[in-house]
Amino acid sequence: MASFSVSVDALLCTGCGTCLEICPSGVFSPGEGGDAVRPECEEGCVGCLLCVESCPESCLRVEAKG
Ligand code: SF4
Ligand code: SF4
Repeated sequence: MASFSVSVDALLCTGCGTCLEICPSGVFSPGEGGDAVRPECEEGCVGCLLCVESCPESCLRVEAKG
């Protein structure tokens, strides 16, 4: 199965929570006090790109590894 690298531009992320809600794999964890989210469970990413398409700040990147 393909694996993906998920990254968040912490300077642009507003912590809005959209990616937390939309990701079917629970990849993201909330930041403390409105800080940037963290892709803590990146290994669960299925590459659906729902997060990339729905992020209002366009600050998410998902790339196939290898
Ligand atoms: S959708 Fe984008 S701006 Fe909102 S919390 Fe996720 S990465 Fe940050
Ligand atoms: S591409 Fe899909 S599975 Fe991967 S982090 Fe984004 S919403 Fe979650």
